[in-house]
Amino acid sequence: MTPIVPGRTVGLLGGGQLGRMLALEARRMGYRVGVLDPTPACPAAQVADFHVASAFSDCQQVLKFASCVDVVTVETELVPADMLAEVAIHRPTQPPPSVLAIVQDRLRERQFLDEHGFPQVSWAPILDASMLAQAEERMTYPALLKTARSGYDGKGQVRVEHAGQLRQAWDAIHGVPAVLESVVAFRMELSVILARSATGEVEVFPVAENVHRRHILHTTRVPAAVPDAVRSAAVDLAVAIADALAYCGVMAVELFVLDDQTLLVNEIAPRPHNSGHFTFGACTTSQFEQHLRAICGLPLGDPALLHPVVMGNLLGDLWRNGPPRWESLLNHPRVRLHVYGKAHPRPGRKMGHVLLFDRNTDRALQEVEALLQSLESSCERREDA
Ligand code: AMP
Repeated sequence: MTPIVPGRTVGLLGGGQLGRMLALEARRMGYRVGVLDPTPACPAAQVADFHVASAFSDCQQVLKFASCVDVVTVETELVPADMLAEVAIHRPTQPPPSVLAIVQDRLRERQFLDEHGFPQVSWAPILDASMLAQAEERMTYPALLKTARSGYDGKGQVRVEHAGQLRQAWDAIHGVPAVLESVVAFRMELSVILARSATGEVEVFPVAENVHRRHILHTTRVPAAVPDAVRSAAVDLAVAIADALAYCGVMAVELFVLDDQTLLVNEIAPRPHNSGHFTFGACTTSQFEQHLRAICGLPLGDPALLHPVVMGNLLGDLWRNGPPRWESLLNHPRVRLHVYGKAHPRPGRKMGHVLLFDRNTDRALQEVEALLQSLESSCERREDA
């Protein structure tokens, strides 16, 4: 492939925070950026060269958009894979639409992992009511029922405490195709963010250790506090998955670590990932630049960690009495703040994040918690006022 170099135009399908950071990095490097997203003034549109406000399902608009750019990529798995396949006829498109078709559907993703012998949670498919009884019997409880499509940050998920609750849980997700999986008592969660080029070169970022609250990423610590054997097993697993998918671009593999240090795959994300935001400030090459390099056919950058770091997500809850009081964060000299420019803060919505650099990541984790708590307390004080 002839490399797509700065000066050319990158087209992003999806204009959320991932698209925004991709666009910022692309523009820094001298690319032009177009964004297609239904939301006016979405986070990426605010920093792009042009924005087309259209649904991802509007074939005519998407193809017209693609004709204005030199390479197309996605920042969300909500883009229909068949639409992406149509785009790929006309323009270089990465990640491959066939990969998106697998990972945007939890059922296909779990089947893919089983077919290749990648370790994962025990699960059962539910396509229609006739499959409920079998799934109910096969499962260990508690379990989680997850919609096959369109779920993220705990949306489209219902906890099932015991077998008798499954029918009710399935009704709660409106009887759509779903995956039932057992709840894993993990010791820790990790993610591996890597980039793979179209010709199969791979670069892996340092393994990240994640804490979720209410199914939403809360903090990421890098390097992860795990033995080297776990770290390298996690990397090997993620690279094997990327190879099996013939992936191109940046992807993330989320993993559970059990007490006996066994790893189970929770999810594959075919794009830069929230737990990779640390790279945008703490690594020689950010995950966003790395994605651009991969999809543009350029050599991959060095993923080395320049400084140990902790990331904390800033959720919409902190905006409930107006924008947070940023002074408490910005008074800290080793904090890097990123706010995504979303117009409508909602509880649980990712509005921004902070990075805190510290050689001692235990201390950094405590400091990030304290900073988030101080933002939380300033909301409460305003509530009282
Ligand atoms: P997901 O939306 O599937 O990525 O899940 C988000 C988070 O919910 C995960 O990172 C875990 O913290 C938790 N979670 C999801 N599935 C499971 C499971 N089967 N067992 C335990 N925790 C889970």
